[in-house]
Amino acid sequence: MRKKAETRNVPITSLENSVLELYGLDQNAVESLSSTNLGDLVIINVTLKPDYPPCPRCGHEHPNVCNYVDKTITHSILHNCRCQINYHARRYKCPVCNRTWYEFNPFVFKKQRISVSTVVCVLEEMRDPAVTFTSVAKRYNLSPATVQHIFDDHVQIPKATTLPRVLQLDETYSFKSGTSVYVCMLLDYDTQTAVDLLPSRKKQDLIDFFSSFPLEERQMFGLLQRICTRLTGLSVKVLSRRDLCP
Ligand SMILES: [Zn+2]
Repeated sequence: MRKKAETRNVPITSLENSVLELYGLDQNAVESLSSTNLGDLVIINVTLKPDYPPCPRCGHEHPNVCNYVDKTITHSILHNCRCQINYHARRYKCPVCNRTWYEFNPFVFKKQRISVSTVVCVLEEMRDPAVTFTSVAKRYNLSPATVQHIFDDHVQIPKATTLPRVLQLDETYSFKSGTSVYVCMLLDYDTQTAVDLLPSRKKQDLIDFFSSFPLEERQMFGLLQRICTRLTGLSVKVLSRRDLCP
């Protein structure tokens, strides 16, 4: 028989309420919610109500609560201090096949320890080509490496199949890109959308990029003139802003 969920009044502060709103949680979905202010760190403690989902292996509909595991989630929505969610994650166990599993975790993308809202904020900031991993990291109390991982995990630039009418090359500072402190952004000048992101603007990286297009495509790309004779038939000139905006 399905266990009756424990109910109790949950005191809600504005900060805690923002957590519910950010993750689309109803107050009825929360078993306990509180926050602790430690000066430079705010901790939000949360336990969700059990919903006893069917066993993912055998489909048995009456699992037991097995145990709880505390998960610490970086939740950098406050700019003036660090913030984390201490999520008391429930694990279920199937009495038929003994399978154990976690309840649905609404706070993170799979296997991450950064909250969904933090990821969304970071990605929104990264839309501005002028910002760097380091500046965003500082603003959200994260490390530059964490910001880069978020970017790498969530941003996939679809592979261009044709070269744009005008290709704009721009360098932006990256705290680390393997071979250079800058990364090279390739943009479609007309639409100002990303075409590709190269580790640097070094000759070899550009050769690798242009080599991925058919020869005819490269030959049609008449706005560029010689960059390197190694690309047979390709005549490339890197345009400066002055060329484009006289
Ligand atoms: Zn089962």
